[in-house]
This record gives sequence, C-alpha cells and structure tokens, in this order.
Amino acid sequence: MIEDTYIKQRPKSKALYERAANVFPSGVTHDIRYILPFPNYIAETKGSRKWDVDGNEYVDFAMGHGALLLGHGREEIVSAVRELMGKGTHYGGSSELEVKWGEIVKNLIPSAERVKFTSSGTEATLLALRLARAFTGKSKIIKFLGHFHGWHDYLIRAERPPWEQAPAGVPFGVLKTVVALPCDLSLVESILASDKDIAGIIIEPSGGSWGKVPVPDGFLHQLKELTDRHGVVLIFDKVVTGFRWSPGGAQQAYGITPDLTTLAKILAGGFPGGAVAGRSEIMDLLKFSGDDEKDQKNKIRHQGTFNANPVSAAAGIACLEIVSTGKPQKEAATKATEIRKALNEIIRSYEVEGCVYGDSSVFHITLGARPEDFTGGDIKNPRLSPEVLKNGMEKNLAKLFQLSMLVEGIDFFHLGGLVSSVHTDEDVEKTVRAFEVTIQRLRREGMLK
Ligand code: PMP
Repeated sequence: MIEDTYIKQRPKSKALYERAANVFPSGVTHDIRYILPFPNYIAETKGSRKWDVDGNEYVDFAMGHGALLLGHGREEIVSAVRELMGKGTHYGGSSELEVKWGEIVKNLIPSAERVKFTSSGTEATLLALRLARAFTGKSKIIKFLGHFHGWHDYLIRAERPPWEQAPAGVPFGVLKTVVALPCDLSLVESILASDKDIAGIIIEPSGGSWGKVPVPDGFLHQLKELTDRHGVVLIFDKVVTGFRWSPGGAQQAYGITPDLTTLAKILAGGFPGGAVAGRSEIMDLLKFSGDDEKDQKNKIRHQGTFNANPVSAAAGIACLEIVSTGKPQKEAATKATEIRKALNEIIRSYEVEGCVYGDSSVFHITLGARPEDFTGGDIKNPRLSPEVLKNGMEKNLAKLFQLSMLVEGIDFFHLGGLVSSVHTDEDVEKTVRAFEVTIQRLRREGMLK
C-alpha cells in the first residue's frame, strides 16, 4: 500500500514528527505542511531538487511556495546575501539597498508610482486594505470565493469551502466588513449599486490560488471598468504571480492597471518580504505632511521591524535583476506547458476523469471530475463550481495522490506545482513517469475509476 511504503522510506522524518508534535500544534509550522501520516522533513536543496532527512530525493514543485522562480541556491542570490551578511543583517535604519530594491520594483511595474515594503504577503494585503479604506473613507471590501490573500482576519474568509463558514477566531464585526462573491460581474455590480460602503475589491487576477479557480474571460477588464465607475479601489494580489507571469506585473500580463498591487515571494528572492505598490494618490496617504496634528488624524501608520530588511533587499535585488530579462519566466513556462500536456495525455490514455491546467509556469491537477469546458490546457470560463476547482480532488484521493507522488520522488504543492527556470527535461520525464505510476496505483487501490 502507498502509505506503508511512504512510512518505510522515512524513519527519520517519522521520528522528527514525533518530536514536533510535542512542540507545534499538529506538529507543523504552516497548514499546507500538514501531511498524514507525517510530513517529510527536508534537509537540503539544490536547483530543482531537494532531499529529505532520510536521503529521499525529490523534484521540487513547491519551490519555496512559489518564491523560487530561479530554483534553489541561485548563485547570484547566494553571493549577494553572503556579501551582505558581512556588513550586518539589520541596520536599524534606512539603507541604499532598500532604495535600489524599490527603484527596481518601480521600474519593472509601470503602475507602481510608489512602493512600500512589508515583511510578508499577508502584511501587504493588510496594508492594501487599510489604504483602500483610508482613501475612500469607506469600510467594506469585496473578495472572491477561493482566492487566497494571506491569513489575517479580513481576508481569510471564503478562502476555501464551505464559503459561508465563519473562520474560527475572527470577530463578527470584522466578518461583516468583507463581502465574498463568486466571480460573477452582475453580482459585483448589484452590490456596488446597493451598498455605498465598499472601499475596495481585491482579487488574484490569475484566478484563486494562482489560477486553480480561474476567473472568466474578460472579467478583469469588466471589474476595472466597474471599480473606476464607482470610485472603488481595485487591488490585484500578485503575491504569487508578480514577476512570474511577466517581469512587468499586471499591466503587462493583463493590459489592466490596478490601483494597488500586492507583492511578495519572488520580490524578495526567496527571503521574507512583501510590498504594496500603486497610484501615488493612494500611496501618499502613508506620507508625513509636516503637520503633526494633521498626520495624527490622516496619515496611515505603518511600522514593521523587518520592513525592507537588508538581507531580503540584497536577495530581492539580485533576483529581480535576473527576472527583469523575462528569460526565466519563458523557460519555466515552457517546462510547465510540457508537464500540463504530458499529464493530460496520461489522463486521456487511462480514461480517468480529470485534467491538468494552468497558466504561465504553474499547473493544477483535478482528478475525479472533468470540466466540460477544458480544452486541453486551460479552463477559460469555468463551469465547474469554485468548490470542486479549489479542492481539486476528494480528500482521501488527494492524500493518496500526494503520498504516491512523494514515494515516486515528486513534491507537488497544492496538488500542482510552481515550475522554476532550472527544471530540466529529466525532471519533466521523472514527473510524467511518477504520475503514470500513481494513476495505475490509485486505480489498483480502487481510488480512481
Ligand atoms: N496572497 C496570495 C495570492 C498568496 O498566495 C499568499 C501566500 N501564498 C499570500 C497573499 C500571503 O503571503 P505570505 O504567505 O507571504 O504572508
């Protein structure tokens, strides 16, 4: 059985998990790392590969939760950080590095008239909401079902099904300030017409969870037109897709200029860091005016010990300089296209229900259901419900699928993957073989028809 093999291959991971279970709730430090019977503990990484404490090797498609477009241990980033470490890791003050880092973001993203660094993507979306509220003087935010924007109180709701479920620990008063909708323009329009307290709309423009729950064709343009008409702040959350879909952000990828963009992950070259970038008219609410009394009342406060920390700045600069050429994005996207195509061929040849889809350099796997509108690479106007798309697979099937791929040496992420520019043909072949073995196994174990 898959689970027995998984356990047998990982005695050291099992022992670590037993220790971890006495330290962390459920033994894990991020919900996505909660794998049963226990997670694999990673000891080392290089390029497109990683190794666990038991010496098992994996082709890595988690890639730093999407932060590592250039793969693990990219020389230019490692040496920039090494050099920086000799000069200190926190200056307790401003630095030339942060100026350079901010200038690169501004140059790459045309709509980034002003930039503000945070420590994470969660902090970036939190700051973006505060900006939208202060700018409009209104309090409510519209978000979309299945779109993830970090774990803070405002946006954790409706991140996963069941959509109506109130997330534990979030005050009712906060929940009332967020309206969660499917990507249906008429619904958005009717809310904007009836509720005059909407400050902003936040969306993953790629679709929720980097395209796992795709947005209908034309939706972003219509949303832009609506937000402009109603004076509502449009926020594109590009924490995963920023710099991955294209060097130049949303404007380049979608031909739309949002009011604000949130960034993280690739931005900081594999180190912690995030940012909000956007229209100076809005961003200037963070500005000191010189009038203390006025600032006390109107200025948005924004502190953060690790904002623009020098380590992340050094890594971010080294990473963005390479990313700005557009070459890594193309290399990663080429490999992702090959993976999507090859896995779909296997699905077709075994006549199982499912599909592999995605944009740019990512892929998502759905097994057990098949969208009618799947055209062999993409889901353009999803008719499968956001619930089915977000879950990807039934729970037990998902568990065995993940364990089987790990046993075969493939580490997927959210039942899919984020491909880097250093994934090789051999990595693709290994992935395809592992997928085929997994499909055969799942069938044998009665999990797939
Ligand atoms: N927004 C999106 C679209 C994300 O995918 C994530 C994290 N995966 C976040 C925000 C939160 O970022 P962080 O984990 O850096 O807080």
